[in-house]
Amino acid sequence: MTIRDVLIIGAGAAGSTAAFHLAQSNYKVTLLEKEEQNKLKPCGGGMASSVQHWFPFDLKPVVEEVIERVEFSWYLDDLVMAELPGNSPFWIVKREKLDEYLANKAIDAGAELIKPFEVSQVTKTAKGWIITDKNYKQLKSRALILANGSNSLWPANFGLGPKSKHLATTTSIRLQGRGNLTKGSSRFEFGLVHHGFAWAFPLNDCVNVGVGTFIGKSSSNNDYILEKLLPNLGFDPKSGSRIHSSLSVWNGNHKINGEGIIAIGDAASLCDPFLAEGLRPALMSGCEAAKALNEWLSGNTSNLDGYSQAMQKRWGKSMAWGKRIAQVFYRFPKVGYQLGIKRPTAPQRIAQILSGEMGYEDIAKRVIKRLMLQRFHKE
Ligand SMILES: Cc1cc2nc3c(=O)[nH]c(=O)nc-3n(C[C@H](O)[C@H](O)[C@H](O)COP(=O)(O)OP(=O)(O)OC[C@H]3O[C@@H](n4cnc5c(N)ncnc54)[C@H](O)[C@@H]3O)c2cc1C
Repeated sequence: MTIRDVLIIGAGAAGSTAAFHLAQSNYKVTLLEKEEQNKLKPCGGGMASSVQHWFPFDLKPVVEEVIERVEFSWYLDDLVMAELPGNSPFWIVKREKLDEYLANKAIDAGAELIKPFEVSQVTKTAKGWIITDKNYKQLKSRALILANGSNSLWPANFGLGPKSKHLATTTSIRLQGRGNLTKGSSRFEFGLVHHGFAWAFPLNDCVNVGVGTFIGKSSSNNDYILEKLLPNLGFDPKSGSRIHSSLSVWNGNHKINGEGIIAIGDAASLCDPFLAEGLRPALMSGCEAAKALNEWLSGNTSNLDGYSQAMQKRWGKSMAWGKRIAQVFYRFPKVGYQLGIKRPTAPQRIAQILSGEMGYEDIAKRVIKRLMLQRFHKE
């Protein structure tokens, strides 16, 4: 049986990114995807344009809309508008197109894609890994990447990622037409959603609308929220077919590699616990995984620990603050909206977070500095 250098379970955004970069370094890499066709994924599709730096090819062919302003509302009222800084910093993509585009770039670079191939078993051997699909077909590799999303059970089985997952509960729909969303505008609604927010992201000829709850027990009234929100966006309250899903969000800095194994994207629980930004960390972890495996497979290093360390430095540090901010904001959302969103500089800051220009750590440090200055002036 052929022994591949790397097998990747899941040809989503994370897996395809890792496959592309590994294939570019001439490794024998195979992507395994359970779905035969790229189907509609529950994802808003909002993506910081800064991810372009991580690819030598243009991502513009899959960008549906360039966002120039973000509107915020509280109970469909009290609107705040933020013009995004910089040059086209926030893009909206159709996930099914982005994932296919990245997988095709990986194939062009020399990777292999096998689909449908639904992995049902992962076994560690002395020499590497044996992957078995539901029809008992087996493949072998020296290294393994887990990129099969939020419901992956294997990270926990191999001691990677958080022991207990923090799950955000989401409901999403895609609607034909644009309602009353103007070109280049996206919308965030806070008051209607207990412990979370709703969004509307336009994509050329349609709109992704969704609701996410980030702390506490799962919300059972997402359908009711959508019925209130949709007329406000210019759609029929019952339109769209609802997709309910759970999203494993960042829940602490943990080791996300083991011996010859790496978890990336949602399988590594990297998604932002405040705004559910999961695409940037999925692509970032795909790149970092390829970098670490390149060193390990070529014998330059004896372990893959550099991957977990790089992700903690580049992403986890900021997410630790994002988690604290989420816990305060979503427990006291009205205060959060008044002090957070309605502060003159706040929408700009949120825009900078969405565009990847600023991390939560920078935001937290600014707030702490401001509080200290206020105290100093009072004394
Ligand atoms: C409702 C919602 C809205 C969101 N909106 C945004 C947003 O606007 N912006 C943003 O940045 N993030 C958003 N996110 C988060 C983002 O969608 C995820 O973080 C992102 O999909 C992670 O990509 P991934 O490649 O890690 O996982 P996935 O996209 O889940 O890919 C995993 C792949 O693995 C395959 N797979 C699964 N099991 C197996 C198996 N056993 N064998 C073989 N293949 C398998 C799946 O079919 C899939 O193709 C949102 C999430 C949700 C739920």
